[in-house]
Amino acid sequence: MPVSPSLLEILCCPAVHAGNACHGDLVQLKSGLQCQTCGLVYPIENGIPILLPDSGIAKDSPLYEQRHKLALEEGDLDK
Ligand SMILES: [Zn+2]
Repeated sequence: MPVSPSLLEILCCPAVHAGNACHGDLVQLKSGLQCQTCGLVYPIENGIPILLPDSGIAKDSPLYEQRHKLALEEGDLDK
């Protein structure tokens, strides 16, 4: 389920690196929202982006694949 563009506009990355907030812009991917700055991907559950500092995962992490598969099974993705 896509996040509305107006919502995307006001959201930013919650990650903190070495004490600095990332605040990067987020872009919509099929399986979540990816930060343009640090590259972490945040999940979207029932159309609501889960923007918690520890919910972001790297796209090359095995967790990412797992989450993507799960979202497909739950029918959250339009495939
Ligand atoms: Zn970020």
